[in-house]
Amino acid sequence: MKEFELINRYFTGRGVARRDVDLGIGDDCALVNVPEHCQLAITTDTLVEDVHFFSDIPPRALGHRVLAVNLSDLAAMGAEPTWVSLGLTLPNIDPNWLDEFTEGMHEIAEYFNVQIIGGDTTQGPLTITICAKGIVPKGKALTRSGAKVGDWVYVTGSLGDAGLAIESRKNGWQLDDEAFACALQRFHFPSPRVAAGQALRGIASSAIDISDGLLADLSHILRQSGVAAQINADMVPMSDALRNSVSVEQSLQLALAYGDDYELLFTVSEGSKLAMEAKLRQYGVEPVCIGQIQAGDGNIELLYENHPWPFPKTGFEHFS
Ligand code: ADP
Ligand code: MG
Repeated sequence: MKEFELINRYFTGRGVARRDVDLGIGDDCALVNVPEHCQLAITTDTLVEDVHFFSDIPPRALGHRVLAVNLSDLAAMGAEPTWVSLGLTLPNIDPNWLDEFTEGMHEIAEYFNVQIIGGDTTQGPLTITICAKGIVPKGKALTRSGAKVGDWVYVTGSLGDAGLAIESRKNGWQLDDEAFACALQRFHFPSPRVAAGQALRGIASSAIDISDGLLADLSHILRQSGVAAQINADMVPMSDALRNSVSVEQSLQLALAYGDDYELLFTVSEGSKLAMEAKLRQYGVEPVCIGQIQAGDGNIELLYENHPWPFPKTGFEHFS
């Protein structure tokens, strides 16, 4: 199979066809229409074999995951995902692998009504780069810089599961089969919080998606907003799979310092708190308050059951 055969077989005329696309795959550029009252939100993420995923990851999961992590960035800005381009570097053309990989990608693209409008195909070590685009009403995007002293800090769901899957495999931890399956599913098929992100427009004061770990990503908000935060470690939501598989200390390390779960972390003022909770529940999201913004310069004060809690150093270094 040659490059153009590959594109024809797996991409041309497949998947979503949006009305705002005048020209999709097949020319030198795609042509799309951004609604007049909107801004274009653009993000890029790359996944490299042996760096971001194990080489034995099911190709369908890889196709899902690479698109999901990009859509998660759009979600964090409150943007509506619309179009993606796909840079695909393959060591060889393996039709079975490509069937599965593109199936995983088209599945999530269809779910979120996103059209693959172009890309590039080259030979080399397995690397996938996606450039995802979305639209957001002018001036309404959520950013990292709007957190104010007194705002509440929330997350959209449980953390640490993807980390449990990766670390248990790396370290040979013996997990219950069902717990491992739950954790692995979370790592392979993350659900970007696209609806929640859009629902938070005009309500949240800042937002970010958790890709590098709660504490690391919270630090971005704090630094860019010029504030500090107090976080109740015991309030951070965790799945039963995580709680039942490792010690309390290990579960906290995974939930606080591991990324890859792709929940949203956001801040909201006291006055918008109830409206926000009601709105997210309409989308089936149960937001959890884990702390509050304070005056300061980016530091995070961690509490456990209302007592100061020093984050276990060894675990942190291990995970970094
Ligand atoms: P060019 O040489 O002009 O860059 P290509 O021959 O690389 O064009 O690609 C032909 C068409 O197929 C273009 O519209 C391009 O966007 C699209 N395309 C190439 N690779 C991919 C891919 N992996 N996924 C989706 N579209 C692709
Ligand atoms: Mg060209």
